Amino acid sequence: MIYASVVLDIPTRAIDGAFDYALPPELADTVRVGSTVLVPLGNRQVVGYVVALSEEPPAGIDPAKTKPVSQDLAAPAFDEGAAAVARWMAREYACPLADAVRPFLAPGQKVKVVRDAPGEPWRLVQDSTGAVDERWAGLTPAAADFAPKKNAPRQRAVIEALAQGPQRVAELAATIPGAVSAVTALAKRGVVAVETRRHVRGGAEATSLSSAQAPRPKQLTAGQKAALAVIDAALEAGAGDVVLVDGVTGSGKTEVYLDAIEHALAAGRGALVLVPEISLTAQTVGRFRSRFGDDVAVLHSRLSAGERFDQWDLVRQGEARVVVGARSALFAPLADPGLIIIDEEHEGSYKQDKSPRYHAREVAARMARERGCALVLGSATPSLESLGRCRDGEYRGVKWTRVAMPERPGASRLPEVRVIDMAEQFRGGGRSVFSAPLADALRETVGRGEKAVLMLNRRGFANFLMCRECGCVPECPHCSCALTYHERGHSLVCHTCGRCWPVRAYPDPSCSCPNCGSRYMGAYGVGTQRVEDELRMILPEGVQVIRMDADTTRAKGAHQKLLEAFDAADSAVLVGTQMIAKGLDFPEVTLVGVINADTMLKLPDFRAAERTYDLLEQVAGRAGRGERPGQVIVQTYWATHPAMRAVEGHDRELEDAGYPPFSRLGNVVLWGRSDKDTRAASAKVAETIRENVTGQAGWEVLGPTDCVKARAKDFFRRHVMVKAPVDADLGGVLGAAAASLGAPKGINMSVDIDAYDMM
Ligand code: ADP
Ligand code: ZN
Ligand code: ZN
Repeated sequence: MIYASVVLDIPTRAIDGAFDYALPPELADTVRVGSTVLVPLGNRQVVGYVVALSEEPPAGIDPAKTKPVSQDLAAPAFDEGAAAVARWMAREYACPLADAVRPFLAPGQKVKVVRDAPGEPWRLVQDSTGAVDERWAGLTPAAADFAPKKNAPRQRAVIEALAQGPQRVAELAATIPGAVSAVTALAKRGVVAVETRRHVRGGAEATSLSSAQAPRPKQLTAGQKAALAVIDAALEAGAGDVVLVDGVTGSGKTEVYLDAIEHALAAGRGALVLVPEISLTAQTVGRFRSRFGDDVAVLHSRLSAGERFDQWDLVRQGEARVVVGARSALFAPLADPGLIIIDEEHEGSYKQDKSPRYHAREVAARMARERGCALVLGSATPSLESLGRCRDGEYRGVKWTRVAMPERPGASRLPEVRVIDMAEQFRGGGRSVFSAPLADALRETVGRGEKAVLMLNRRGFANFLMCRECGCVPECPHCSCALTYHERGHSLVCHTCGRCWPVRAYPDPSCSCPNCGSRYMGAYGVGTQRVEDELRMILPEGVQVIRMDADTTRAKGAHQKLLEAFDAADSAVLVGTQMIAKGLDFPEVTLVGVINADTMLKLPDFRAAERTYDLLEQVAGRAGRGERPGQVIVQTYWATHPAMRAVEGHDRELEDAGYPPFSRLGNVVLWGRSDKDTRAASAKVAETIRENVTGQAGWEVLGPTDCVKARAKDFFRRHVMVKAPVDADLGGVLGAAAASLGAPKGINMSVDIDAYDMM
């Protein structure tokens, strides 16, 4: 008898972990590790995933009492190595094991089962229609001797069309009326053969972007060679070593990835490449496809369910050995990865914001160790975590090595950055969204027939008040973080300690800045539309202005079309939100302007400075990638902030010195319809954690307090934040506290380890 260890997919923390079932002989051939199965639980049938098989009865289990697996529902989606990673995730991120297994399943697979009638087998509900088959028609050798009758013009047309090569029957039918019956008639005579071919959705999107090609450079730079050598060594060692490629924007990191992948493929292994969702453009994908062709599968959320399934299935079938995708591509069923690459590893989007709340960098490191491959992290602004681990030389038992690529290849140089104090501009009478230096630079740039990129920072667009004259943002005197402005209640609220003050904001005549007394203290922010309008006013007529934001990119492919228009224009300005900061490689861009650099600095987020710096350095890197030098103008109300000084000098060391030592941060959020019950539950969680960690160095429990979003959909939201030392078992502690609360009625809870979103 074979025994299967099955993770049940039921939404409760109360039944967690894997349970043992017997595998009946009729299922022994098909059910493997990674299979989705139906198993009995009490008097119900539930969906589960097989994470292990064994021929021995598991310890402490009575074989006679072990219930059998009822049904096989879906083919294996993962293997033992993946199951081990899922177990680690469940512990590390304090989430149910089923949540940790789910990312490994086929895209579109649901937990729900249906059947046609009682007694019939159950089927899984699938988002997609699964694989799509298509009928193709082609001429047989017999066609050479065949002449269609005079009164059969359709047959003649079909034969003529097929003389060019096989075609999809659906396509024939679209151009030749009656083609379907003509094909059937010809097939009967043996003149045409019809076969069913697998149609793979989500393949290459054609693009006219010149930069979507990756011609091999004549020679690698010294930095590129050094980076490749370290990566090759890690690939060979096969021990999960991590290589941090710390290269300035445009230093040729992508080229290093391409060569490293080539080496992995030559060694008979595959590669997983993660890039931020937002930069998964035709440009990025094109560079990988132009080097590896059909060996590339692409996975991201803008694909339809069917497309995602097909691309995933290509990987499972072993037909694509290079997977390029966003965060979730890490879980693609690639049989033998030799290399995992994470580009822009510092990016916040690698942190998943719903359960399992994993960070792709950490899971990748674990996976690399499990599978004996190398992990390559690339960034112009590496995370403080990665820099720290490289400084130590190791982390969690594997080697971490940093290689620097401080220069761009050839004649290209890093752009010059100027920081403009907007409060000073305002005091000097400037009321435009453009400072005088930025307006001048824009006119000069388009005057020379070059291109400019303008970024309007809308990330983390919290409500706060700001004085236009002195740049002051009211802060909590007890917690030194920006106060959130509640327009309806005319109040300022601290979301760390919960204190609250009444306030009058501009245009109320009694408005007065606590710092300078100005009456221009109001809610802060402009939209892309306003930037576009003002831009048209200051630029000569005929200069193309292309706006890229959530509104203009909603339609499928819109993003790419806008970039193609920008690429094709002689001289143009691209205005966009932070979606334009990454990955764009247009050599003719010589000016980058940042309209408002500060929004994130005002968030109740201890990573705010780091994230602001990262984003500015990224967008600055879009300028001067070609032979002509680039310039960057950053507008801020906080010109003395260390993050601004750091971008000005492209000097990250400054930032390292100016920030508090890094620690881990966990966030437990509780929400319920009853304010009282939510308060009680959050207090109990905080108390349990405090009991567990008192006296331990480096631990700090904050709260409970209301969340920044204190109410959402009639739920009251409270949270407890926990700071811990870098090597602490934060998942273990918070997981235990969550479990000890049990399942109080009407209370929901999420545990977020290494949290990014504190709202
Ligand atoms: P990054 O990923 O670090 O931002 P890219 O790989 O996009 O940099 O390279 C920037 C530009 O430099 C690209 O246009 C690329 O084709 C070019 N490039 C990369 N390596 C070399 C090289 N060794 N010689 C010449 N050009 C190079
Ligand atoms: Zn406070
Ligand atoms: Zn002021």
